[in-house]
Parts: sequence; C-alpha cells; structure tokens
Amino acid sequence: MPTDAIVVGAGVVGAACAEALAAAGLSVTVLESRFAAGGATAAAMGHLVVMDDSEAQFALTRLSRDLWTRRAGEMPPGCEDERTGTLWIAATEDELALVGNKAAFYRERGVDVAELDGGALAREEPNLRPGLAGALLVPDDRVVYPPNAARWLLSRAAARGARLVEGAEVSAIHGRRVATRTGDLEAACVVNATGAAAPLLTPGLPVAPRKGHLVITDRYPGFCRRQLVELGYLRSAHGASNESVAFNLQPRATGQMLLGSSREFAGFDASIRPAIRARMVLRALEYAPALAALSAIRTWTGFRPATPDNLPLIGAWPETPGLFVATGHEGLGITTALGTARLVADAVLGRTSPIDPAPYRPTRAFPGAAHA
Ligand SMILES: Cc1cc2nc3c(=O)[nH]c(=O)nc-3n(C[C@H](O)[C@H](O)[C@H](O)COP(=O)(O)OP(=O)(O)OC[C@H]3O[C@@H](n4cnc5c(N)ncnc54)[C@H](O)[C@@H]3O)c2cc1C
Repeated sequence: MPTDAIVVGAGVVGAACAEALAAAGLSVTVLESRFAAGGATAAAMGHLVVMDDSEAQFALTRLSRDLWTRRAGEMPPGCEDERTGTLWIAATEDELALVGNKAAFYRERGVDVAELDGGALAREEPNLRPGLAGALLVPDDRVVYPPNAARWLLSRAAARGARLVEGAEVSAIHGRRVATRTGDLEAACVVNATGAAAPLLTPGLPVAPRKGHLVITDRYPGFCRRQLVELGYLRSAHGASNESVAFNLQPRATGQMLLGSSREFAGFDASIRPAIRARMVLRALEYAPALAALSAIRTWTGFRPATPDNLPLIGAWPETPGLFVATGHEGLGITTALGTARLVADAVLGRTSPIDPAPYRPTRAFPGAAHA
C-alpha cells in the first residue's frame, strides 16, 4: 500500500509524529517492532513539566506542555490527565535563594509560578518533613498516564487514516525505503522515532540509553497532591555523573504514589539494582519520612534516550535524503512529544515552526559533551 510517511517506532514520540503528519493530510504508516507504547513510554512517570535549564529546553517544554493543556479536554479518562502542578522543593535556605532565581526565570517568560515559604509548603503537603525551607509551585504542570496517552495519540492518527503495524521490526532504513522481515516499504519521508534504539537504524546519532528505576506504592489517595521534585533534580538529570538519584514523587490518579528516580549509564541491562533503588528510597525518606509507612508493590526500569547536551534530536538527517529523526528526549519525552511532532511535521512540510528548531538539529555540534 503506498504511503507518504513511515514512522518507525510507536512510543509517545512516534505516536505524536504520526498524528501530526496525518493531521497535515499525509498518509502515514507506523511500524513498531513490539507493541505500541511498550518502550520507554511505558516506563515513564508522565510528568508534563516546563523546564528552565536552558532557553532551548524551556522553549520546547513550554510549547509542549501548553499543547497538552489545550488537548486536556479531548483525552479519554484512561489518560489520567491531571493538573497536579509541580512543587520544586528547597531543603535549605541556600536552596531557597535558588527558588527566587527560578521564579524570576519563569515569570519573565510568562509562566505562572508562586513562591512558598516553609510554612506554606507544610500546609500544601503535610506529609513532607517539617523544616523544609520552601518551594516553587508551577501550578499548570500536569501528569498523564504515558502508555495510554501514546495510544490515544495513535488512535487520533488512525482516525485520520494512519495505519499501525505492530510486530514489524525495521532492520534498516535506506533513505526513503525501510526494510522489514516481510519486505521493504517506501515513502516520501521516514521518521526514525525508535527512542534509545535510534542509533541502531541511523548510525552516528549520539543517543545512549540512560536507565531509570521507579517504585510504585499501593493506593494511598491524598498522600500528596502535587508532583514533588527536589530542587537538585537538575543536577541528577543533567550532571555527567554515571549514577545519580533525586527525590521525585507523583500522585497517580489511582491513588498510588509513584516514586523516582535514578539515572545511570548501564547499556540495555534492564535488571533491578537493589542498591540504587535503596539509595532512591532513602533520598525520598529525607523529604517525606511518612513514606516509610507505605507499601511498595512494584519496581521497574526503563531507558531514557539521552544525548550529550540533554536536548533532543529533531529534524532532517542530511546524510540520508528523506530521513527525519525524532529521538534523544531523555527524561522529557512525554512532555515534549507534542512539540517534537510539530517540529517534525514542519520540517517535512517546509513550514515555519512556532519555536526556533535550530537547537534540536540532529547535526549540531556538541562542545563539552557530558558523554559520548
Ligand atoms: C524512569 C523514567 C521516568 C520518566 N519520566 C518522565 C516524565 O515524568 N516526563 C517525561 O516527559 N518523560 C519521562 N521519561 C522519559 C520518556 O519516557 C522518554 O523520553 C520517552 O518515552 C521517549 O519516547 P520515544 O517514543 O522516543 O521512545 P520509546 O517509548 O522507547 O519508543 C520507541 C519505540 O520504538 C520501537 N522500536 C525500537 N526499535 C525498532 C525497530 N528497529 N523497528 C520498529 N520499532 C522499533 C520500540 O519498541 C518502542 O516502542 C521517563 C523515562 C524513564 C525511563
């Protein structure tokens, strides 16, 4: 069957790209080696968060979070979309000074925030330990259930005629032609959206799997209301360290508490490491000692597709005419899927994008890269 666009990979990024291309009137085929939304997307927390670590990260996360917000009313209940907001927690007075800087950054760029002192934080989240210095509240950040959000995007693509083929492993991409076990398929454009596996199909893409552990508890509705993140989270997310943990606690719509997170470069070894999980839990207990009374029911791991400069790789891959890439979203791929899809569709169709696509160009230089 002829198709205008082939999207390889049906994670949240591929799903969003398929929807955006189908919405632009292209016939789209999505090829997924296993099953839709079964990769990093299934492992993620689903925190839709505006980040301030660089102007480029801010631009993409802000665009994307706002796109999710605009579509909140369309999502079926299974996507578990909730406007939880984010509380960036300062443990000490020194950290509280950073809250001021963070607040100024967001306010200057039109993002609604509120600064909380220790007392206000304790009233907002009584299960946090007393004595924390304060927090920055970003009230419009959200949470979704990532695999269902991705499947919903695929269903929206299908409603516009896109075709999803599961169990279709792509063994090679030769420009506009992709090879699968059952034969080759051609299209005017191909999007490599295979997450951490992307360099296997497009050698030279600087993407490495960055493993993360998450722990989920039994149901304790109301234990916390906001997504709680320690202010030092960025040190863990964007430091060059081979192994780190940071406190990150999310209230799920089910009443469960989802606890993160760890980061390590360990290849594709998905095994659970009790030692790093213990570090993660101990870190969480420093912020919320009441967690000790909760029952944890499951731990899992997933692989964030990491790049040397912590920005995703989005756009044409000039070495191969007709090939576009959309990968490298590390710990922000759920958040940035919709903005990414917009940039990909704009690149494919030669349209102007709402944000400058240059910082995400896959062929950019990586001076002072954190990892190879
Ligand atoms: C522990 C953890 C917590 C996270 N928390 C958050 C969060 O709170 N907020 C947030 O925004 N992000 C979060 N992330 C990051 C997010 O999960 C990823 O950035 C995002 O899921 C990447 O999506 P993707 O579609 O690029 O990759 P994937 O979801 O991995 O999808 C790629 C797909 O490609 C398929 N594939 C691979 N090779 C082939 C092939 N050869 N042929 C065909 N198909 C192929 C795979 O089977 C897979 O389905 C988290 C990640 C982890 C691990």
